[in-house]
Amino acid sequence: MTTCLFCKIVAGAIPSTPVFEDEHLMVIDDINPVAPVHKLIIPKKHIATLNDLSAEDTLLMGHLLVTGAKLAQTLGIAEDGYRLVENCNAAAGQTVYHIHMHLLGGRIFHWPPG
Ligand code: AMP
Ligand code: ZN
Repeated sequence: MTTCLFCKIVAGAIPSTPVFEDEHLMVIDDINPVAPVHKLIIPKKHIATLNDLSAEDTLLMGHLLVTGAKLAQTLGIAEDGYRLVENCNAAAGQTVYHIHMHLLGGRIFHWPPG
């Protein structure tokens, strides 16, 4: 059995309440939200970091992005604005080594990020 937290969630070994799910990805609420809307868009394929992507993942990554944008519309945060963020490795704050896209919204965000 994998030790990867998000592989366990995708496999149902750790219970979660998916906001959305299809053949390629799952969307769940972040357990420690940093904004009023904080979803995680998780590919079902295990890829540890963005550094491990290959050309065959191009469609998958586009699918993550389009899903995040559509979800922002559905959740009513698209007009005000939102962020789609992927952290890669320690300096960027990655803590779960199975890639995922954060959908953040419902408040004002500053730039540059901290
Ligand atoms: P990152 O720091 O970019 O790797 O993001 C990992 C995210 O996963 C953090 O925002 C955590 O709060 C979130 N997280 C960790 N464990 C869980 C879990 N069991 N269910 C939902 N979100 C989680
Ligand atoms: Zn994994």
